[in-house]
Amino acid sequence: MEGALTARDRVGIQDFVLLDAHTSETAFLDNLKKRFSEDLIYTYIGTLLVSVNPYKELDIYSEKQMDIYMGVNFFELPPHIFALADNAYHTMLTEANNHFILISGESGAGKTEASKKILQYYAVSCPSTTLLDNVRDRMLLSNPVLEAFGNSKTLKNDNSSRFGKYMDIQFDIQGDAVGGHILSYLLEKSRVVHQNHGERNFHIFYQLVKGGEEDLLHQLGLERNCQHYSYLVQGECANVTSINDKNDWKTVRNALSVIDFDESDIQHLLGVIASVLHLGNVQFEPDSKGYATLSNSAELLWVSTLLGVNVQVLQEGLTSRKIEAKTDEVLSPFTTDHAVYARDALAKAIYGRTFTWLVNKINDSMGNKDSSRKTVIGLLDIYGFEVFSVNGFEQFCINYCNEKLQQLFIQLTLKSEQEEYEAESIGWEPVQFFNNKIICDLVEEKHRGIISVLDEECLRPGEATDLTFLERLEEKLDSHPHFVTHKLADKKTRKTLERGDFRLLHYAGEVTYCVVGFLDKNNDLLYRNIKDVSLQVSTHVASQFKSSLLGLTDILMSKEPWYVRCLKSNESKQPGQFDNVLVQHQVKYLGLMEHLRVRRAGFAYRCRYDVFLQRYKPLCPATWPYWRGVAAEGVEVLVQHLGYLPDEYKMGRTKIFIRHPRTLFATEDAFEAC
Ligand code: ADP
Ligand code: MG
Repeated sequence: MEGALTARDRVGIQDFVLLDAHTSETAFLDNLKKRFSEDLIYTYIGTLLVSVNPYKELDIYSEKQMDIYMGVNFFELPPHIFALADNAYHTMLTEANNHFILISGESGAGKTEASKKILQYYAVSCPSTTLLDNVRDRMLLSNPVLEAFGNSKTLKNDNSSRFGKYMDIQFDIQGDAVGGHILSYLLEKSRVVHQNHGERNFHIFYQLVKGGEEDLLHQLGLERNCQHYSYLVQGECANVTSINDKNDWKTVRNALSVIDFDESDIQHLLGVIASVLHLGNVQFEPDSKGYATLSNSAELLWVSTLLGVNVQVLQEGLTSRKIEAKTDEVLSPFTTDHAVYARDALAKAIYGRTFTWLVNKINDSMGNKDSSRKTVIGLLDIYGFEVFSVNGFEQFCINYCNEKLQQLFIQLTLKSEQEEYEAESIGWEPVQFFNNKIICDLVEEKHRGIISVLDEECLRPGEATDLTFLERLEEKLDSHPHFVTHKLADKKTRKTLERGDFRLLHYAGEVTYCVVGFLDKNNDLLYRNIKDVSLQVSTHVASQFKSSLLGLTDILMSKEPWYVRCLKSNESKQPGQFDNVLVQHQVKYLGLMEHLRVRRAGFAYRCRYDVFLQRYKPLCPATWPYWRGVAAEGVEVLVQHLGYLPDEYKMGRTKIFIRHPRTLFATEDAFEAC
């Protein structure tokens, strides 16, 4: 019973819903900072968990801690990721329904760590039988494998996930974890061929080159020297002090065997990885007419051997393009620039496809064949809003994704509020908040939405450019209140914009996008004859992404949501530093204030009658020391005595609903005084 009501502890308020009614952003930040300085990195907004990255090991994740949180009511202990995991789990068991935990935040904010903590919590705390330990191990071990292939060192995070991940953990009726399933989103394939200064390619490449056994490297035609591979050295940081690639190699090799990869799978997998490294070293020279020819063929031979593709076909594919004439196909030769582009496109496609294959294999291994009834908890670890000084196509996709997730949050929150009000027989009250559906439509609507326009432009190769795309947008979205360009800026009396930019007024704030590269990236086209080589045709990325997002929102819509919002405390990965400006920026773009508003739109606080009465009964002579009647009536007598005005609260069937936190605070002050 402690907790919710003793919310204002000495170390700040542990639930923002109970901060003063018109909470300012400043008060919000102060509270976070105060708690952070005491190593209290978790704070609630209702049942949403805010987490601030401490950048140091805290002694709060031990098995002993897990025991403490097991089966305990949400508000009875200090906020914790385990409390959230445990409550999702127990609600799932008692209500026999599905849940998901959405973890969002900037790169380096602690999302992946949070999702690992949740997974570990389930691994330790759920009942187990020997048979099922197997599934559990596989679920835990899928992590290092996916991280090897999907994570890399970036400026923001030495172990940054470069893909979005949704993982279902399946439980049987007893609550045993019996299976898992992973969906991956938006793998950053461009990293395979290009890394910014201070960043690396995906971990697996370095692990293989540094840790791979002599025999293996020999078989794959690789040298034990990262400097030798052009795809590994662009960021000039093949070695990172916080990363031990050799050890990680062993972990990954071992994990691969546990999750059912047999030797031929592993051969295949590593062969593909090696082929990408060889491909990166394929160089071209101009011939006398300026057309691309291979500088040396050794690397290409390796690619051909490792992939099992005819070397002639491969070479033609990299240096020319097939054009269909009336009756014939002719080869139109590439310039060297073109050939490099084709080579990189091939490398990205190979890697992307391998990643998909890997996820499928992992799914097979964690899959549960038994068809008895199961419920799931889904874990979604995905980028939060990204706002850089220059924002491109990737940020557009990521921010659209967050816009959709906010829409989902609104729908689900309103739905559950409505359901609770109905269950409690309380009349529905309209709530005040910004509904971002208009922005989702702006992006995804058929015919006039940004993605539609982009796809249409991509169907006019040769004619369309990034700038014609922008012009089309201007024509179609001229009067849209959330869309601004250079031309429209004056009309909409907004800050001016560069010519090649457009700005979206997202629910969490404005983001300006530069259109350069939109068409290319949307296309992600492989030249036709390269596709013939055996690789899948890639379709337009943004609409592919749109449909996978729609699929995801369908998956989530049918489940009960839990939210974890991760914040980065500082840019330099230092313990104990709380950078106000940086945190404020994230509070804004994670929509935390907006979330608080939706949470508090109706009634900020609700509590079961028996619980409420038990705590506050000393405040009224009629209820102290005992109330002998029905709890609801006791509460009514109590709040009348305390002078609650009729508009400040409502009596439901099992709970009292209190509109403003201040009402509760007054009561709480009285309680502390007595
Ligand atoms: P994200 O997935 O959001 O990009 P990560 O989860 O990979 O970020 O976290 C980045 C780094 O921050 C981790 O490698 C770890 O050093 C540190 N970190 C994150 N969460 C915690 C935590 N709860 N306790 C201690 N350190 C953390
Ligand atoms: Mg991550």
